[in-house]
Amino acid sequence: MQFYSLNHSSPKVSFKEAVIKGIAPDKGLYFPERIPKIDKKIFDRIDDYSHQELAYEMIKEFVGDDIPEADLKSIIEDTLNFDFPLVPIEEGIFCLELFHGPTMAFKDVGGRFMARCLSYFNKKQTTEVTVLVATSGDTGGAVASGFLGVKGVNVLILYPSGKVSAVQEKQLTTLGQNIKALEVDGTFDDCQAMVKTAFLDTEITDSIQLTSANSINVARWLPQMFYFAFAFKQLKDRSKKLVFSTPSGNFGNICAGFMAQQLGLPIHHFIAATNANRVVPNFMLNGVYEPLKSVATISNAMDVGDPSNFIRIREIFKDNFKQLQKNLSSYSFSDYQTREAMQDVHTETGYVMDPHGAVGYLGLKQYLKEQKKTQGVFLETAHPVKFLDVVEPVIQKRIPFPPQIEEIMDRKKVADSISTYDELKAFLLK
Ligand SMILES: *Cc1c(COP(=O)(O)O)cnc(C)c1O
Repeated sequence: MQFYSLNHSSPKVSFKEAVIKGIAPDKGLYFPERIPKIDKKIFDRIDDYSHQELAYEMIKEFVGDDIPEADLKSIIEDTLNFDFPLVPIEEGIFCLELFHGPTMAFKDVGGRFMARCLSYFNKKQTTEVTVLVATSGDTGGAVASGFLGVKGVNVLILYPSGKVSAVQEKQLTTLGQNIKALEVDGTFDDCQAMVKTAFLDTEITDSIQLTSANSINVARWLPQMFYFAFAFKQLKDRSKKLVFSTPSGNFGNICAGFMAQQLGLPIHHFIAATNANRVVPNFMLNGVYEPLKSVATISNAMDVGDPSNFIRIREIFKDNFKQLQKNLSSYSFSDYQTREAMQDVHTETGYVMDPHGAVGYLGLKQYLKEQKKTQGVFLETAHPVKFLDVVEPVIQKRIPFPPQIEEIMDRKKVADSISTYDELKAFLLK
């Protein structure tokens, strides 16, 4: 399968090249030249397929000949070595828990899949690759954990000092081996600016091979299609109309949901639930796309003012606004509403949602108000323990650390502090 650039000024590339490049030379996102339909029998007889078999069927055409069947299957086995339980919350409302991976956020699947693909492509190379990534929290942890121990790949993570949660900092700084953390005296934007400068600095790129693990990379984006099939597989009643509500920031996850729908998964409608960053809810009112400055919220992994993957959703619908409206609703919720939902659901059902999942829950409730005979799934994208400082005061209860977090909280943080680009450069060239 070939991938083209959404800016249409760069040549088409194979899956392999799209993964290695990340973004096209004309700065466009890569998009598959066609979206294959899956054999209808597979979704009709979904009980006969394991998660890994489903995942393989969904992604094989996109990968094409770049990874042979046996190797792709083993990459998938390795990527999906944890559970994705569907939990009933209320009548007709289910929660798909995507946080059972090593860093307890849904980005683990994309991070692990991409790491294993890059490692596969890098096998015959003798030079090492350095993955350089700036993080505001979850991305760095998922990428670091995904690449941990992968031969021929070094990972360097930049994070803003004092601006990630305690759990997130431990996840970034205690892995060791091929993972190094740089604690930057500055903001996330400063980290990102340094990374961008490094990619343009020929003194660096002439001497080491740099790669980005950005969320727009097709190897991080496409595996998220699997979640929607995993949810469908676990539903007791698959005859009712099914809708998904996805807490959205950069819109990669929901865009992967639309891909799953295009493959043939019977999904009736999507809800893109956002926090106060309401560029897409605004767009869905009148079809005018206006990026905004991002505002800080308690669901901070979704504080995005210009969601990079939304253009891929528009491409799926050939930019037909009426068609998009038929398939997508989008609502924005305040921090007050988010806390209220966390509290209400906890009081009534005992279930603890994290702030991101709570936004997804709110979106689903809003949509279902006007719909009969419909069941809905909202995606829970992070374990509440990752946002302890928000969740505990709301539910008035301590959240015990799960084993993967308990294990790292006692480990010693190892990070070098930097404050300028020259320090980063010296570090890379060392
Ligand atoms: C990244 C992230 C999101 C947003 O996902 P997108 O694919 O960028 O829309 C939601 N919740 C959590 C916990 C995240 O880390």
